[in-house]
Amino acid sequence: MKIAFNRAFFDSSYSDDNAALPGRMEAAMSLIDPGRWSTLVSAPATIRQLLRVHDAAYIESIAANPRQFELARMAAGSSIAAAESAYAGEPCFACIRPPGHHAYRDRAWGYCVFNNLVLALMELRETQVIESAFVIDIDQHTGDGTRSLLADWSGATVFNPFAEDATNYLKLVESRLAEIEEVSIIAVSAGFDAYEHDIGHKLSRADFHTIGAMIRSASMRASKGRRFAVLEGGYYLPDLGSNVAAFCEGFE
Ligand SMILES: [Zn+2]
Repeated sequence: MKIAFNRAFFDSSYSDDNAALPGRMEAAMSLIDPGRWSTLVSAPATIRQLLRVHDAAYIESIAANPRQFELARMAAGSSIAAAESAYAGEPCFACIRPPGHHAYRDRAWGYCVFNNLVLALMELRETQVIESAFVIDIDQHTGDGTRSLLADWSGATVFNPFAEDATNYLKLVESRLAEIEEVSIIAVSAGFDAYEHDIGHKLSRADFHTIGAMIRSASMRASKGRRFAVLEGGYYLPDLGSNVAAFCEGFE
């Protein structure tokens, strides 16, 4: 498995939102073992790639803040690289910011800018002619932008698990994953804000490992092992690194 990452994501200077908290990306990467998981550094997404998903006027409005634009294009480029790696046979976790699952065609909210996951799927749809995708979004918040952007693609399924407690959450994830028939790729919006000490007050570190392993297993069965994940939320910095690593260990 690879980790798609760029040291530029450590730069917290351009924005003061929670996804740009100083030290957040350092925390997310802190337990990623470079000896175990090699880093995939990719080019920023091109304007042509962004236009597959976003309106030109929206892209221009983001470009008005050059540093934000640069990092958002890097996040999207890393997500695309993660999907390409996954499609070629090596799973990948894109440890990126800004996140993307609240980004629509012409607007965004919730610290998101471009929809990294949808950009990656649309790239595969165009270059590899994939027919289908199963998206599981484990962030505490619904990936409304992702739902909106994939609504017109009948081959895409988006699953946002919701349950009151961890036990039922895991049961729900397990049963829904078991229903997947053949699919070209499985993509994960990996948010860690449903963590027991984060705003969701629900999932433990072990649960993130379990979810990663469940998705891996579903992917081996239904998508030829093709799977990638992209970082979304996750704001409890003391444990973000161990939660990311736990997910990756299960997902690998
Ligand atoms: Zn969230």
